[in-house]
Amino acid sequence: MSEKALICTVCESRYPFRTSFSRCPKCNEPLELEAIGTGSIKAEAYFNIFRRYGEFFPFREPYDELDLGEGMTPLVWTPALAKKYGIGAVAFKNETANPTWSFKDRGTATALRHAKILGFSRIGTVSTGNMAASVAAFGAKTGVETTILVSSDIPSEKLNPIAIYHPRLIRVHGDYSRLYSESLRLGEELGIYFMNSDVPFRVEGSKTIAFEICEQTSFRVPDFVIVPTSAGGNIRGIEKGFREFYKVGLIARIPTIVCVQAEGCSPIVKAFEKKSLVVERFSNPHTIAHAIENPFPPSGNQVLRVLNKNSGVALAVSDEEILAAQKELAETGLFVQPASASSLAALKRLVHDGALKSNHCVVCVLTGSGLKYTSVFQHYHLAVEECDISQLKPCLSHSIS
Ligand SMILES: *Cc1c(COP(=O)(O)O)cnc(C)c1O
Ligand SMILES: [Zn+2]
Repeated sequence: MSEKALICTVCESRYPFRTSFSRCPKCNEPLELEAIGTGSIKAEAYFNIFRRYGEFFPFREPYDELDLGEGMTPLVWTPALAKKYGIGAVAFKNETANPTWSFKDRGTATALRHAKILGFSRIGTVSTGNMAASVAAFGAKTGVETTILVSSDIPSEKLNPIAIYHPRLIRVHGDYSRLYSESLRLGEELGIYFMNSDVPFRVEGSKTIAFEICEQTSFRVPDFVIVPTSAGGNIRGIEKGFREFYKVGLIARIPTIVCVQAEGCSPIVKAFEKKSLVVERFSNPHTIAHAIENPFPPSGNQVLRVLNKNSGVALAVSDEEILAAQKELAETGLFVQPASASSLAALKRLVHDGALKSNHCVVCVLTGSGLKYTSVFQHYHLAVEECDISQLKPCLSHSIS
């Protein structure tokens, strides 16, 4: 394969694949790897995204030694919910089945390959949650020096799931919102590959979510794919994945992409509703859905461009709707964090608004595990029965329903 270029999402300037900067020096908008226009799935390569979809990556080899078993997550169909909401089919792409329990592993694994090809021996990221844990885990596996930058006010309960992997962890005092661009700038200067939220190769990792959904629906593609969105890297990747499979002729259409945010931090939705082409910083963000609480998403403008080009949708849901959806998902056996439950909350809103019909197939992306945020446990009180072992038979002989 000829070497792919990184292309500016606005001015279309081309940069070599072997550059480590992630934004256009002219527009300061995200770069994106040139779309793959020919390729096929290697059906004999099960359970490895870099082998199975190898022709859709610009890497000359799969680099198996970097794997933690990311991707190839289940698509869980819920006929009961489809019936309840009067739509054709509802399925959940269960990204909690990834090595560090969120989709971030796909992008980390992909960016790590790019870092390796470029010869970096140091990697890092800026995050307080799932991305930090993911980068720390892959750093531990591969033995590269790994630096995680966190805000100074991060609660220690959030540090523990990162600390277990033993990265270099730095609390940074000052304006946390500047850390994204400061780290990218200093990384360039000092030779540290900062695989932040929406860097081009993280987006490349996320496109495999779309590839898998295509395969798991026998290439009949859903009508809607609902994606909880913060920085915007994941939704961009998912859209790109469908676009590439469409380009190579594997699917006949691209689904309607739905961007869901929390009402307490919804900068992309606000801009979308105003028909603005630029996202503005959201003031005083506050939501229970911490993983989607970026007040100034670095890929926000590009998400708007993608939604506008494909007749996509953006909507915000309240914390109450998110908690209700989280409970409803748990009652179907899926325990996800509030950010991820926003996808079902959005589905319910679309049903309420009459946007979903009895013949529609909808996929919600469950981005990360509920076990990462155990504070919701306090909302649930189950009445526990007591019984002596000698009384077990009479106790069990009556059913509660
Ligand atoms: C990172 C993350 C998101 C948001 O993804 P972006 O690429 O930042 O838009 C959503 N849910 C979970 C659980 C996440 O960890
Ligand atoms: Zn540009």
